[in-house]
Amino acid sequence: MTTRIKKQKATGDLFKAVQEKADVNLSVCYQCKKCSIGCPVADQTESPPSEIIRRLQLGAGDELLQTDLIWTCLGCETCYARCPNQINFPAVIDALKSIALEKGVARPEGDAPLFNQLFLKFPTMLKKGKIAILPPSGGDKGKVKRIFKKTAQNRGTGK
Ligand code: SF4
Ligand code: SF4
Repeated sequence: MTTRIKKQKATGDLFKAVQEKADVNLSVCYQCKKCSIGCPVADQTESPPSEIIRRLQLGAGDELLQTDLIWTCLGCETCYARCPNQINFPAVIDALKSIALEKGVARPEGDAPLFNQLFLKFPTMLKKGKIAILPPSGGDKGKVKRIFKKTAQNRGTGK
């Protein structure tokens, strides 16, 4: 796997911010690439896990917040399980995602950012009772049955 490093602005601020948010020590990464080899989406991403860490070590700036793995990571934790230094890379991704949303700098194509925002808000909404896991019981079941019957009739099945 070829490591492509793009460096635009070397401040090191992002490195520090990610380490603090994710509670990880990225300095111990020695680029064995076990994380990237096991990552199920590494082949479809511009920068696999080990490369993202290397870019952070080299002082990547906000351009790293536009990397697509932030939005395509499955959260499967394979990278974490394979790392000989126990680097919690999914936490690194969460930190990058959170910083990207805070700064409003990452807006890739598709619904992934919206989905991620809603997913992050889900526990709060659940706690406040704004959404329920199960649908409400005690509704007019007869009415629902009639709606299904009518829909079937409209489609010409008559069932
Ligand atoms: S958690 Fe994300 S980065 Fe890590 S292996 Fe899974 S998909 Fe890849
Ligand atoms: S597996 Fe761990 S040490 Fe190896 S490249 Fe990935 S993060 Fe770095």
